[in-house]
Amino acid sequence: MDCIFCKIANGEIPAATLYEDEEFRVIMDMGPAAKGHSLILPKEHYANIYELPEEKAAKAFLLAKKMAGAMTEALDTDGFNIVQNNGSAAGQTVFHFHMHLIPRYEKDGAGFGWNPGNLSDADRDEVLSKVKRVLQ
Ligand code: AMP
Ligand code: ZN
Repeated sequence: MDCIFCKIANGEIPAATLYEDEEFRVIMDMGPAAKGHSLILPKEHYANIYELPEEKAAKAFLLAKKMAGAMTEALDTDGFNIVQNNGSAAGQTVFHFHMHLIPRYEKDGAGFGWNPGNLSDADRDEVLSKVKRVLQ
């Protein structure tokens, strides 16, 4: 399989690496939303959060917490976003699971987000009943 993040995570393609252990590599994003924008990559290939085993998901979030703390201290950030996209409809462009670590600074103009809609009664009732049914 020809996956760029598999190659980067496993050191076949060099990347600016902030952190590495047996299971993960954290690299700087080549198209940063803000200074220091980095990516947590598992070394094994999982396309998205649905494929990611629970244990790996838990470790990925622990690593996100560690990196957020270290990067906030080192870069003197004013805030921090953790973003994780699944599927092209959600903005995923590289289909190897990754978490975005995005340091934020007052007035950095990174400006991603959404336009808030209104929660209708019909949507609320439909979503509550459908999701709870699957969770049961
Ligand atoms: P996503 O849209 O969530 O799939 O994010 C993919 C991210 O990977 C984007 O922010 C890209 O800038 C970044 N990216 C793609 N290729 C590379 C690469 N070779 N090295 C570093 N970052 C990359
Ligand atoms: Zn991969």
